[in-house]
Amino acid sequence: MEDWRYINSQRDIEEFVKETMGMHDTVMVGLDYMAGTWGDDMATYFSGPNSKNLRVIFTSPWTNGNIEMIFETVCRFNISGWQECYSDEILECSISLEKLKKNSDETYVLWTSGGTPRACGKEELLLEPIDTYIISKRVRWRITKLNYKCPCCGYYTFGHPPMGELDNCPVCCWFDDTECLGDLDYVNACLGISLRQARKNFLVKRACKDEFMSEVRLPLENELDGINWIIPSKKW
Ligand SMILES: [Zn+2]
Repeated sequence: MEDWRYINSQRDIEEFVKETMGMHDTVMVGLDYMAGTWGDDMATYFSGPNSKNLRVIFTSPWTNGNIEMIFETVCRFNISGWQECYSDEILECSISLEKLKKNSDETYVLWTSGGTPRACGKEELLLEPIDTYIISKRVRWRITKLNYKCPCCGYYTFGHPPMGELDNCPVCCWFDDTECLGDLDYVNACLGISLRQARKNFLVKRACKDEFMSEVRLPLENELDGINWIIPSKKW
């Protein structure tokens, strides 16, 4: 796995744009916000050292793996998924270092999915709900090969979205089936059980079905984290 690279200068930006082809035709497939804060049962509030990090995963036709970006100390972001035609596909990203506060020299990283920020534009951009954009104190990125989450055991064992590619999960032996993702009670044609039952079995037997108990294995280190890709079901 590659080391993280930070975006601290115009040169870093040029390197990022060159390697990712300006993120042309990349697709945002996953996004995790880690607040770094928590509260206990005494209503006491705690804040961790790495707070407000936003992790975003993209597939890309240009890189040998996914583009993984972590926006550290994210200040503001907008994922504009509310339009009917929105596809999460990026035609060309823009990334720049900006001073966004009046009377302050603090620099922020401004990333947008929509090409060059409008010339007259940062204030307009920040008010505008149409663009997908992220503003943070720092950004790090790397190219990495991430697996997709198994809908049964929850480990990241599939090299592609698990929807009918005729693959088995090595950790629980779930056989991927698109219909089961949309309906937890739909019976998997190859396994003869539903995803709901397979999950129950895995919790007790570490396999989606009794007959596979001798074939499963523990998850590998690279299967503990990946892309939380799943089709929402109406019957969860
Ligand atoms: Zn599995």
